[in-house]
Amino acid sequence: MKKYNFNAGPSMLPREVIEATAAACLDFEGSGLSLMEISHRAKNFQPVVDKAVELVKELFDVPSGYSVIFLAGGASTEFCRVPYNFLEKKAAYLNTGTWAKKAMKEAKLFGEVVEVASSAESNYTYIPKNFDIPADADYLHITSNNTIFGTEMRYDLDSPVPLVADMSSDIFSRPVDVSKYNCIYAGAQKNVSMAGVNILIVKDDALGKVSRQIPTMLDYRTHVQSGSMFNTPPVVPIYCAMKNLEWVKNQGGVKAMDKRAHERADLLYSEIERNKLFRGTVKEEDRSLMNICFVMNDEYKELEADFLQYATDRGMVGIKGHRSVGGFRASCYNAQTIEGVQALIQCMKDFEAQH
Ligand SMILES: *Cc1c(COP(=O)(O)O)cnc(C)c1O
Repeated sequence: MKKYNFNAGPSMLPREVIEATAAACLDFEGSGLSLMEISHRAKNFQPVVDKAVELVKELFDVPSGYSVIFLAGGASTEFCRVPYNFLEKKAAYLNTGTWAKKAMKEAKLFGEVVEVASSAESNYTYIPKNFDIPADADYLHITSNNTIFGTEMRYDLDSPVPLVADMSSDIFSRPVDVSKYNCIYAGAQKNVSMAGVNILIVKDDALGKVSRQIPTMLDYRTHVQSGSMFNTPPVVPIYCAMKNLEWVKNQGGVKAMDKRAHERADLLYSEIERNKLFRGTVKEEDRSLMNICFVMNDEYKELEADFLQYATDRGMVGIKGHRSVGGFRASCYNAQTIEGVQALIQCMKDFEAQH
């Protein structure tokens, strides 16, 4: 049976990207050696990193004065590396969910943290608007897409201070005005690659402004200066990211990804609204195009486990909602197909017809 992958992360990648990565693991570019068993300083690996950097810059139209680096540690490590590198006295954080809260917790180890707004009181069903941002903050940290709760800031916020964004689950799904950010970071395993690498876009001028000592590996300058080659980087995830960024480019770049994201989400949200069994969980204007969350309407609540089983039996994978929200979550990252979304919609319609 054909499987449709709606996992929230690690998540679906284009088949050809997986095949190219698998092939490189068996025989890297005809060298007779696996990508796993060569030096990251080998002559034939440097072009992989160079190409990945070039593709990030091209896809996001990154202005000069910014560096692109690849780091290990998962997005969670950036929760600490960001304040280490950028927080001198005070930083502003927008609390839009679990990941934002975790980022805020780490920042408090380094200085004053101002929570500019929060939607915690409604279990993060919307993105706060019209909040004050202290003009003396070193940066405002946002989580552009809230993977767990299914809300998204699909725009580049106007802010009196530079932005730092956790774009782990929507990077490269739309055009971004990089000039508004001091730092954009993303764990790769949602929308770019396999787990194991973070992608960072860092404004060079914003580095070196804090007075504290920074341990070498946590100092972004170390990795900017060494071109992500200070120590052994995660070579296979970087290769996979490079291949996927190439795929994005060949599909028409981030504008094309944006268009497809809207197409997929429009189809699925329309069905959620139409179908008597289901309802969405977040405020319409803040709905994520990446993680589409929905629950059973109250009068059909007892059918939740049945629908999960029904959809699973028909090849849907990973649609169980996060425990903080319940219900269902269909993750529709760049690699998700219209066909996949239509298959899920058909399940919803057929299940409705039985009830
Ligand atoms: C998954 C996720 C993280 C955590 O990523 P790790 O790489 O597992 O540390 C952080 N932020 C967002 C928005 C995420 O979706």
